[in-house]
Amino acid sequence: MRLSSSALRRLPPCADHALLAGAAAAAPAPPPARHLFSDPAEVEALRRNLLAWYDRCKRDLPWRALAATEPDADRRGYAVWVSEIMLQQTQVATVIDYYNRWMQKWPTLHALAQASLEEVNELWAGLGYYSRGKRLQEAARKVVSELAGRMPRTAEDLQKLLPGVGRYTAGAIASISYGQATGVVDGNVIRVLCRLRCIGADSSSPAVIDRLWDMANVLVDRSRPGDFNQALMELGATVCVPKAPLCGECPVKQHCQAWRRVERELAFASQKLFGKKTPVPDVEDCGVGDCPLCPPATEPWDSSLGVTNFPRKAAKKPPRVMRTATCVLERRGCHGAPEYLIVQRPSSGLLAGLWEFPSLPLAQDLQEEKEREELAHHLQAWMGRPVAAKGLQFMGEVIHIFSHIHQTYVVYSLHLDGDVTLDPALSPSRWVTEEEFHASAVSTAMKKVLKAHEKQRRKESSPVKTILVLPDLNFGDIPTLSDGNGHFILT
Ligand code: SF4
Repeated sequence: MRLSSSALRRLPPCADHALLAGAAAAAPAPPPARHLFSDPAEVEALRRNLLAWYDRCKRDLPWRALAATEPDADRRGYAVWVSEIMLQQTQVATVIDYYNRWMQKWPTLHALAQASLEEVNELWAGLGYYSRGKRLQEAARKVVSELAGRMPRTAEDLQKLLPGVGRYTAGAIASISYGQATGVVDGNVIRVLCRLRCIGADSSSPAVIDRLWDMANVLVDRSRPGDFNQALMELGATVCVPKAPLCGECPVKQHCQAWRRVERELAFASQKLFGKKTPVPDVEDCGVGDCPLCPPATEPWDSSLGVTNFPRKAAKKPPRVMRTATCVLERRGCHGAPEYLIVQRPSSGLLAGLWEFPSLPLAQDLQEEKEREELAHHLQAWMGRPVAAKGLQFMGEVIHIFSHIHQTYVVYSLHLDGDVTLDPALSPSRWVTEEEFHASAVSTAMKKVLKAHEKQRRKESSPVKTILVLPDLNFGDIPTLSDGNGHFILT
């Protein structure tokens, strides 16, 4: 049985524990007490300690300021929604600037609903996971056209009515913007909860995730749910970090089973060192055979890892390896500055709607000569005239890691003279200056490609740093350089 957020909201502060116990009793495999928060007094203390720490130490972030001061409920919900979507898979430090520019450009849902996808992609360029921006804009249009511009007010409705809003985002918007007492579970919360309750089973498995949601709903503070959820996430982001958590500074260490276990082991080790007779510490797992939340028997607690024994995840699938040939087509613009041809990607799939240099996915293990031929053939379509494979200059390789793809771009360059007619029947394409390129909706990977291209060009045009010995010119001991054009330079 899953407790609905609205049911939880109607309960007095401690009734949810009794209800959860009832729910657990009805479930086929009730989790052992060690993995639960079943003591109401402890829950109250944890809420108090965590909120007091948050009030003292929270980071000053633009979306927090907006959520705390914006009187218009729809705008408040929108402001939190934008921040939550941007923060998915992206660091706070990176998001701040994007967030400020976004809110300046589209301060309301109505403003965003009127934006074009091109504008959204341009502002999103560099933030990654581009479908997020597109879905945000689609959902804003839906709120304006189908919900009369009014944001849904509960987590259930937000998740049901807004495309791209999942359980976590819905809970975050509802608790932070509308004060709904509903928990949230994101990567930071998973880490903190797994450590607090020594959960060592695969934290990405549905069974564990369900338990963590139950736990988050039990823990969330009834009078300050938004602050509590942000505090839990803030703790995971700044104190209970993945590799070297700052347990000494942690406001909830007294409630942390993983920390207690480490402390007991340390105490036991030091007593043993001084030859004292002490009872064997209670460092066993929860005592329930085949517990679905304890670490698997094949990977027991490792003392050298301390609290970072938790959380654990099943090994990730290795990323797909891809190789793509891409060509920087270059020409002299009317003022002599270089211009580049960029083409638009399809409107669905990876990097949907973004612009890139003409590119062609390659089969693995293709010979270089064959790669060139295929790319030349592909380019002919854009240029409407034959392209000689030999004319393509190899500029280097650029590696870019997407979440699930290890992509290698094999970068070529081709300089064009005269006018090139682009076939309008193909995907949209245009010539851009370097400045226009950077202002366009291009991915970080394409920016890296242009950078590699420019670096190679600079290398080619800089003087060759070769010291030549010219015995017949009698320069004595003075070193002589060539600039690569047959001119010798005395240094
Ligand atoms: Fe995380 Fe350490 Fe705090 Fe436990 S005591 S919650 S492991 S920082």
